Amino acid sequence: LLIVIEGIDGTGKSSQAKMLAEHLRSIGEDVLLDREPSDGPFGKILRASMTEGRLAPDEELELFHKDRRQHVSDVITPALKRGCHVVLDRYYFSTMAYQGANGFDVEELRAINESFAPAPDILFILDLDVEAALTRIGARGDQANEFEQRDALQFCRDVFLSVKDETYARVIDSSPSIESIHESLKKISLAEINK
Ligand code: C5P
Repeated sequence: LLIVIEGIDGTGKSSQAKMLAEHLRSIGEDVLLDREPSDGPFGKILRASMTEGRLAPDEELELFHKDRRQHVSDVITPALKRGCHVVLDRYYFSTMAYQGANGFDVEELRAINESFAPAPDILFILDLDVEAALTRIGARGDQANEFEQRDALQFCRDVFLSVKDETYARVIDSSPSIESIHESLKKISLAEINK
């Protein structure tokens, strides 16, 4: 199965991805734990740019798409073909959200990505109020930055929630404890695996 975990910053995606992958491995499933931007050459440039200074929006978007095309063809598809589950921390829904917040058309981004990237079997949308997310990521204090972040995060949250009616989507309230969120992800994943 392709299991994708999405959500705005502060929802705990990476911890949940790791815990879910570890649990599935502990019960004998073959699992690849992975993330986007990927660890491939384009993904590395993107990760560096997040900390060293953002690229121009056009250039950034092009790199996200190059990274995803390569990641899908060289890593995700081969893993799924050999019967391995892929647990993915961010995917094209993040491009719709964050590059959408950067001014690109969300539906166009979706169409481009769905033309080459397989849809997930399960998409966990870790959902959290923007105020709570800002507190969790420690963005409080710098007022100008906080206003900017609040708008961008709200936009991203709305984009993630806009796909909630897809058959593969599961909205998970991210306000309770890490353990109880993990329990939900585990239960839903096992039900899908055992179908
Ligand atoms: O995955 P992670 O939480 O480390 O992402 C860190 C940041 O990367 C996000 O806060 C977001 O600003 C940026 N990002 C982005 N576009 C994406 C994915 C992530 O701008 N498609």
